[in-house]
Amino acid sequence: MRGAAYAWASPYTVVGLVLGLLVILFGGGARLRQGALEFGGGKVGEYLSRLRPPFAFSAITLGHVVLGLDHAVLGAVRAHEQVHVRQYERWGPLFVPAYLLSSLVELLRGRRPYLDNWFEREAYGKTARGTGAKPR
Ligand SMILES: [Zn+2]
Repeated sequence: MRGAAYAWASPYTVVGLVLGLLVILFGGGARLRQGALEFGGGKVGEYLSRLRPPFAFSAITLGHVVLGLDHAVLGAVRAHEQVHVRQYERWGPLFVPAYLLSSLVELLRGRRPYLDNWFEREAYGKTARGTGAKPR
């Protein structure tokens, strides 16, 4: 039932497509990889690559869309972001509220809201670390 998985995650995919369109309009590109549309490069990628922590990131997944700084980065973080794609397929519209709730719970427990987030622990647990890139 791949169609159902795409439909369930579609509210976030739509947001990702709108942002992806901006990437294209500012000179970036799009590629279809493992059932997800990856957008990267151009002026948006250049601008985002200059962000400093805690706002710095290399890629972000929204449903079946992955937005990254450029296509080399997208390749490096693909395995991690694909875990998030599977999470969107399971959680659908509940994904972002559940993700934020998990971060809040970890923060209140005095732990790291990003790395100790349940969804990130699953994504890092299923993929090799140390690519040098910092996926979200
Ligand atoms: Zn992540």
